[in-house]
Amino acid sequence: MIEKLVIANRGEIALRILRACKELGVKTVAVHSDVDRELKHVLLADETVCIGPAPSSESYLNIPALISAAEITDASAIHPGYGFLSENADFAERVEQSGFIFVGPRAETIRLMGDKVSAIAAMKEAGVPCVPGSDGPLGDDDATNLRLAKEIGYPIIIKASGGGGGRGMREVHSEAHLLNAIALTRSEAKSLFHNDMIYMEKFLENPRHIEFQVLADEHGNAIHLGERDCSMQRRHQKVVEEAPAPGISQELRDKMGKTCADACIRIGYRGAGTFEFLYQDGEFYFIEMNTRIQVEHPVTERVTNTDLVVEQIRIASGEPLSLTQNDIVIRGHAIECRINAEDAKTFMPSPGVITHYHSPGGAGIRMDSHIYSGYRVPPNYDSLIGKLIVYGRTRESAIARMQTALDEIGIEGIKTNVALQQDIMDDPHFQEGGTNIHYLEKKLGL
Ligand code: ADP
Repeated sequence: MIEKLVIANRGEIALRILRACKELGVKTVAVHSDVDRELKHVLLADETVCIGPAPSSESYLNIPALISAAEITDASAIHPGYGFLSENADFAERVEQSGFIFVGPRAETIRLMGDKVSAIAAMKEAGVPCVPGSDGPLGDDDATNLRLAKEIGYPIIIKASGGGGGRGMREVHSEAHLLNAIALTRSEAKSLFHNDMIYMEKFLENPRHIEFQVLADEHGNAIHLGERDCSMQRRHQKVVEEAPAPGISQELRDKMGKTCADACIRIGYRGAGTFEFLYQDGEFYFIEMNTRIQVEHPVTERVTNTDLVVEQIRIASGEPLSLTQNDIVIRGHAIECRINAEDAKTFMPSPGVITHYHSPGGAGIRMDSHIYSGYRVPPNYDSLIGKLIVYGRTRESAIARMQTALDEIGIEGIKTNVALQQDIMDDPHFQEGGTNIHYLEKKLGL
């Protein structure tokens, strides 16, 4: 087992990793920027290292500083969490070249899946269903591109191969707009992602976002842990997630899950990962793979009674999976509401001091958060301040428990999106289940 691990992240996920390390008896090193000295996991870690000033480009994205932190503390591994450097293949490579364990897949796997054109090609080869599209990057020939789009059929979407975070995508509804959209997306891709490779896909008009969680070890074993529905989105960012996805039969889950686990074996995947799909009219279409732990992992943990972060650390230590596919039984229903420091109506970030904090509790309630009374939310990072995860034997019971928990939560001093989450939980269409990815924006009148 890894003896000492550097947590190369901040906020709730850093605390989540610290807790998993404590359970496993792994010593922890918290690295932090100079505005993050008071973070909960920094106060609880065995050792701490300040890696730079507040801007993440100079701290949490500073590769030499992170590697030095591992060197001076004599740690053996680095856990990247999510966001920041978690899907940066160069970072994974530098970590391993410097003699440390990267808690995640091999650098070449991250590179393969980080480029969407190569990821789609690899998935097609592995028998994973993909969105009908250009099957490769778009070239400069206008006539070819016009013909491709016509064959796929409008509406289509032009996407940056190196894209992420919901940026670098453009819908095209008619031929007249195609060439202009290609030019715009290409230049946007170049400036945002330093990679002007773009591709074309059928634009699905009312899909749900359904993703499968997988775990794979270095010994050729891979399993799936069922799916999550993350269709409640704003600006392609998830707001509420749940497991299992309403209306997905055990038969379909087994079939799709097995396809994903088999694909992991085929590409030599290692660690925790997620296959993201759009789901429309009973069909799944692969859009991308996330090669890291995700924000919404707790809903899967709750319905499968597993600990994905503990599994990640065990796999990184070289151990075989402690679970087989037969151990994975989905029981009950779990929902996660992301709690953000932002205005519930305008979505403007709301940093500042939390003057008072009261956490919800009771049966089936889990609050993953680094905040406490007196904690100052810095303006420099993502606005996620916590995740409220609720479990119930049925979806109805999970929603009812979430409503109670959202009523109980008390966060004063800053604005939060709790009112928006209450609104979603009270929504009759959400309660029915199975709303598509456009539902929330339509409901908000965006
Ligand atoms: P990113 O890496 O930026 O998150 P994704 O490829 O995962 O990009 O897509 C993010 C979101 O964009 C999806 O959840 C969906 O809402 C929308 N989207 C992507 N591709 C399509 C498509 N072919 N048709 C309709 N919506 C799409």
